[in-house]
Amino acid sequence: MAKKKNRFVPLLLLIIILGIVGTGAYFLYKDTVPPEIAISPESGDINAETPISVTVNEKISDIKAVKVVLIQNDKKIQLTSEELRPGNKNWEKTYKIGKDKIKQGNFELAVWAVDTSLANFGGGNSFIAKGNYTLDTVAPKITIQTTTHNLTQGGCSLILYSLNETPDQTGVKVGDLFFKGYKQPDGMYASLFAIPFYIAPKDFNPVVIATDKAGNERTRSFYFHANPKIYRHDNIRISDRFLNRKMPQFEDNFPEKSSPLETFLKVNRTIRKINRERLKTIGLDTSPEFLFDGVFLRLPNAATRAGFGDQRSYIYNGKKIDFQTHLGIDLASIAHADVPAANNGKVVLAEDFGIYGNVIILDHGLGLQTLYAHLSQFKVKVGDTVKKGQIIAKTGATGMAGGDHLHFGVLCSGLPVNPLEWWDRNWIINNISSKLN
Ligand SMILES: [Zn+2]
Repeated sequence: MAKKKNRFVPLLLLIIILGIVGTGAYFLYKDTVPPEIAISPESGDINAETPISVTVNEKISDIKAVKVVLIQNDKKIQLTSEELRPGNKNWEKTYKIGKDKIKQGNFELAVWAVDTSLANFGGGNSFIAKGNYTLDTVAPKITIQTTTHNLTQGGCSLILYSLNETPDQTGVKVGDLFFKGYKQPDGMYASLFAIPFYIAPKDFNPVVIATDKAGNERTRSFYFHANPKIYRHDNIRISDRFLNRKMPQFEDNFPEKSSPLETFLKVNRTIRKINRERLKTIGLDTSPEFLFDGVFLRLPNAATRAGFGDQRSYIYNGKKIDFQTHLGIDLASIAHADVPAANNGKVVLAEDFGIYGNVIILDHGLGLQTLYAHLSQFKVKVGDTVKKGQIIAKTGATGMAGGDHLHFGVLCSGLPVNPLEWWDRNWIINNISSKLN
């Protein structure tokens, strides 16, 4: 009896063990999905320092091994060959190709991963993912073509330069301002740039910058001469009559109830700032070639009421309540006077534009735009092409204007610049046209 019993127990144990192993094997075989591999970026131009991240994820079983290989023509460089400890479901590594491993040009990154499942006769589910790249570690070469760049604080200049490769981004950088360079039909790049009204010549350090698709960046300084300009002081008296007449239109911008004076200060500071920021975006909506022809027109038969760069103190009840710089020229003619387009261009904005009231902005190419503010009537719409002298609007007193006048502004990539230069035939010939011919 005892013998029979002893034989039966191991058999039962064997059945139980087989059951456990079988169940386990079933789950291991059941996993027929290979690990997921993600490579970022997946393709494109990269430089020596561009990080390429590889992630491997396994949902059902574990990751058993990962291999990462760099391939260029017949050359194969193993970057990683790793056997993972049990229990790993995620694997991640970031690579930088560097300058010495491979040559400039195309290469491939191949990632192979296998899981711990018993699928494929115990070999596991494996997967290979590949990324295709171009290694470029050399920044574009910049050659400056123009020799003179004379500027007056608040004014413009044109620079022409050539590059030995197609850039991702290029232009003139002045502090945190960027004046984009536009490729001309002859292959050269042209950037209309400015010394901002608020930067003294001694603090003005423009550089040409060019970045390629791989992210290699080169900057190059160039010869320039910048003259300082002293701006006029002006007191603007704010009356209750003006506040009561002008502020209701802006109240919807500020939900919390405020007095007309408080609204005025918010508009004069906040909305002015928002409007100025948007001008930078509008400045990018431009033709890559100049559209203008010769000198710019000034509103005919009009008296100058305020100048570019006027340092305005706002006075209310004998007290200074605010300070702003006036960034256009105020021209007063008869009420509802015809406004001619200052030059050939394209309408890029025609709308109610905050402190400026009804505004038209014309684009003249390379980020150069003219702005017409406080209008009472539009005669053109966005997208229209206009000729120099064509009537585009009628003057008015919309926005923050006290009386009927035209606020005429010139913008260089969204930065307000001195319109006087563009009304001066000789300045245009010396600083712009002569460089393009
Ligand atoms: Zn003005």
